Amino acid sequence: TIEINKLDPIELIDTKEGRRIPFLALCKIFESIEATTKRLEITALIRDFLSQVMELDKEELTVTVMLCINKIAPDHEGIELGIGESILIKSIASATGRQVQKVKQEQQELGDLGMVVQRGKSNQNTMFKPKPLSISKVFSTFKEIATTSGSNSIQKKTGLITGLLASCSDIESKYLISLEAEDFQQATENLKQVLSEFPVYTNVIDSIYKYGISDVVNHCMLTPTLPVKPMLAKIEKAADDILRRFEGKPFTCEFKYDGERSQIHFVRKDENVQCVIFSRNAENNTNKYPDIANSVKEFAGSNVTSFILDCEAVAWDKTTGKIRSFQTLSSRKRKVENEAEITVGVCCFAFDLLYLNGEPLIRMPLRKRRELLHENFIPVQNKFQFAISKDLTEVEDIQEFLDLSIQENCEGLMIKTLDGPTSSYEPSKRSMNWLKLKKDYVEGLGDSLDLVVIGAYFGKGKRVGAYGAYLLACYDPDREEYQAICKIGTGFSDSDLESHKVKLDECKIVAPKPYYAFSDKTKPDIWFEPAMVWEVKAADLSLSPIYQAAFGEIDASKGVSLRFPRFIRVREDKTPEMATSSAQVAEMYENQKINQ
Ligand code: ATP
Repeated sequence: TIEINKLDPIELIDTKEGRRIPFLALCKIFESIEATTKRLEITALIRDFLSQVMELDKEELTVTVMLCINKIAPDHEGIELGIGESILIKSIASATGRQVQKVKQEQQELGDLGMVVQRGKSNQNTMFKPKPLSISKVFSTFKEIATTSGSNSIQKKTGLITGLLASCSDIESKYLISLEAEDFQQATENLKQVLSEFPVYTNVIDSIYKYGISDVVNHCMLTPTLPVKPMLAKIEKAADDILRRFEGKPFTCEFKYDGERSQIHFVRKDENVQCVIFSRNAENNTNKYPDIANSVKEFAGSNVTSFILDCEAVAWDKTTGKIRSFQTLSSRKRKVENEAEITVGVCCFAFDLLYLNGEPLIRMPLRKRRELLHENFIPVQNKFQFAISKDLTEVEDIQEFLDLSIQENCEGLMIKTLDGPTSSYEPSKRSMNWLKLKKDYVEGLGDSLDLVVIGAYFGKGKRVGAYGAYLLACYDPDREEYQAICKIGTGFSDSDLESHKVKLDECKIVAPKPYYAFSDKTKPDIWFEPAMVWEVKAADLSLSPIYQAAFGEIDASKGVSLRFPRFIRVREDKTPEMATSSAQVAEMYENQKINQ
């Protein structure tokens, strides 16, 4: 353990809810954290602060930890603060009695809004001292902001933030804004790691209480039936770059199956068996895949009492023994009442084992996890198989294996480090230790985009009665707006056109949302709520004066659009706010320039 200067004792403040811990105490810790770059010192500061909080009031510990890691709920609850920069700027302007323009100007000058508000507050001449803020008041107001929706939500959110700012002293206002802007750099990695593996905050808090903040990682671990945030991959464009990337470290190449990520959790206690299947976003998909849940006993060895498996569920043709398309899989119902009604069979391809018989495995090397996977599970025809893999070393062999994966109806390859600490399973990370190599990247078409459908144009000729084309948008989380990026009319089968119309007609709205950015030249006949996300490919990206995506980012008077966009699939696993962002669109445009 590392010793740091003794922290000042925390003096509780009187509030309506009783004596509470002041928000100022937490801000002072943030300030000390900012003054050092040493990780051990940071951990020690947080550890000692949380110990103080624990002694004073255990109930406040949960909210304090949540604020330390800048969250208001576990990720799988899907509650996010979701405050865009424009709301923050408005609130700061109103709390410090200045013009929005002036706040923006200072933001340019000082670099961040936390500093702007601190300066604004310290210049303010306050007649009377505001009541001090408690940590729990800040937290409960954040929660209220996050759950505020509906027509006046922007005004309501602005009002709530302005109210908080009014009660802040200068350093408090700085950190309050940093928390809201979600750019708080010194969050505690230790806690974040724990929470991505174990998203039940109250248990984590209990363990901090028992073992202390530095040791908590060793005591709160994966738990079957609680979703783990999946590890994700980075794009690799060419087989020969892989060797360079891994610098001689051994790696394996696995088929990249084109289906739905499925994390299978299983616990057996005497006669009681529990199986839960989670999607990529930690949604409970067990009712969608009762056939997988029922076959667990067949593919888990008799000695297996608990596990968490990472798999891809793909549509499967029993008669030919071949993988079917992703489109086929998406025609499966979300909730299957009875196994007999299943028309689209699935087979699970397991590629990782995160937990086995009471032990988390994620910090073991992939080679070892794979061995355990193969030793403890049994392939079952038409139901469960191991992801096909080869440990290769030569570019030609990788290329050949990539071609084979495509022949077998896969998307390409996943390439993963096999040994040493870099081959551990990193929950929630898009890691350099997992690369994805798709045929499309190799052929230069680039990655696809996930875009939100915001409008439709009536069809002509063959498409009368259906929609002939749609207006798509990317999402700008800073401005909190959907920005039109292209019109799309290609890539749809007749049945796609029909089913999209049925689904989208349920989200028709009479006028565009105030947070849709589009030009009159692209105005559709019908507007929709932001609800559906489509994966789309295009020949390339081009600058356009009429589309608003990433407007002004590359050219002051132009946005970015897609040339020859084509519909690939519905991304049911993404919410509209998870769509490709305008920053990503700008980056894709820039990258394409480099590659030309
Ligand atoms: P994509 O559009 O490529 O699906 P994504 O953001 O959903 O992107 P990525 O990290 O880019 O996810 O790609 C990994 C995904 O590929 C996983 O989420 C999983 O669903 C799928 N997958 C298929 N086969 C494998 C495999 N062998 N190993 C890991 N993931 C695999």
